[in-house]
Amino acid sequence: MPNSIKILFLSAEVAPFAKTGGLGDIGGSLPKALADMGHEVRVVMPAYKNIEEGYPGVELVPGQLDVPTGDGVIPCGAYEGKLPGSEVPITFIAEWQLFKRDTIYGYWDDAYRFAFFSRAALQLTIAWDWKPDIVHAHDWHTAPALTWLATAGQTDERFRGIASVFTIHNLAHQGKTNWHIFDYLGIQTFSLAEEAYEEVNFMARGIYHATLVNTVSPTYAREIMTPEGGAGLDTLLRHREYDLHGILNGLDYDSWNPAVDSRLPYRFSEDRLGERLKNRRALQRHAGLPVKDDIPLVAIISRLDWQKGMDIMGHTLHQLMNGYAGDAQFIVLGTGEQRYEDMFANIASYHSDKMAAILSYNAGLAPLIYAGSDMFVMPSLFEPCGLGQLIAMRYGSVPVVRATGGLADTVQDSITGFMFYDYSWESFWQALARAIYIYNVDKVSWQQIQRNGMMADFSWKRSALGYQQLYEWALARTRGV
Ligand code: ADP
Repeated sequence: MPNSIKILFLSAEVAPFAKTGGLGDIGGSLPKALADMGHEVRVVMPAYKNIEEGYPGVELVPGQLDVPTGDGVIPCGAYEGKLPGSEVPITFIAEWQLFKRDTIYGYWDDAYRFAFFSRAALQLTIAWDWKPDIVHAHDWHTAPALTWLATAGQTDERFRGIASVFTIHNLAHQGKTNWHIFDYLGIQTFSLAEEAYEEVNFMARGIYHATLVNTVSPTYAREIMTPEGGAGLDTLLRHREYDLHGILNGLDYDSWNPAVDSRLPYRFSEDRLGERLKNRRALQRHAGLPVKDDIPLVAIISRLDWQKGMDIMGHTLHQLMNGYAGDAQFIVLGTGEQRYEDMFANIASYHSDKMAAILSYNAGLAPLIYAGSDMFVMPSLFEPCGLGQLIAMRYGSVPVVRATGGLADTVQDSITGFMFYDYSWESFWQALARAIYIYNVDKVSWQQIQRNGMMADFSWKRSALGYQQLYEWALARTRGV
């Protein structure tokens, strides 16, 4: 058993307190898995409006925290609680003018908001008299902590010798801002090649200053080192090639378990696939489709945007609905760009007897779709990790995916799902037709593929082992042991 590591875990999102995507999931699940392995984890996030207005189990900490900045000392407050279902402490930095707003992101001063948060979170460790071994920062919002640690922080013994890990969840959002932010943080530094004159790019800074860097799948780690996938940072990422790792996200197996999921009308497991058929019928009824047991039911649950492969979806769907692979049904649950919503609505209007377009966000319906569909499609253009395919496999819906990012790392062609490579509707269609062929002619193989997916291990425990290894490497690098 490795030594217990003290980890300061910084994230703009931690489920269930605040979540817009995978970042929130990792924030809610990974610290618990690390604590279960014997590590001492303290999570810090901003106190958004829902915390300021009173959140069950979260208490205001008496007193104030004085945060030194280039503009003088700025006081703030803190709330404290525990990650649900655990003893992992979480602290919320409270500065109502910065964080008590209607949404998490989207303001002109976002860079200042998260720079203040990052600096305040480091200052908390002084108030606690607790020196972390590792600062683990997620995405650009918490990268200012790593820049400060690597520069101004080095003048203070209390911050020297701390290793850092920076996790990239979404390279598209880079936190670009003005150089004044460094005056505000009290930092002297030089410009990176990735930064234009007077510009600061916090995503680039995180990659540059962290002891080690990772992203949420091995394939995505390789893809972002290419000009096509690097969002302008591929040169910097290649520069750090030997320090850049890929660790798959896990799935929260407590929330996503078909054997005990109370949101399902019929619960099932890999040795009770018969029960699954009843969910399928319930889904067909719910979606207003004819209840038929003998034709493939294909589904997608997704944000409807270009990243998710919507530009190769329409033609494939047209083929499917026009019977090019025999009779089939299709259900889409999703919201997003108007043009893609219109596309699904139009095709559904021609084929209302076999297709349902549910163009909304409906977390209550999603489990039934995973549990009742036969195939789950994800033709993504890029996909850092992807959660949909993991849930689909767990619920016995066979994923048909493009081999990119985390999809390439989690789905095995003809073993747990079906895969295609080219970003074209023809390749997508071939993979889907291949899946439908097996479904129609070889039920034994089909059920084996379903079972293989249901038994695959994508738990957080597995991911946490990867992070533990990364922390140990980062510590060895920093301390030279
Ligand atoms: P991303 O985080 O890029 O949107 P992921 O595949 O990692 O993609 O995660 C998407 C998650 O959001 C999945 O759990 C999926 O079931 C859920 N989801 C997406 N759209 C909807 C929707 N319209 N209704 C319900 N759940 C949705």
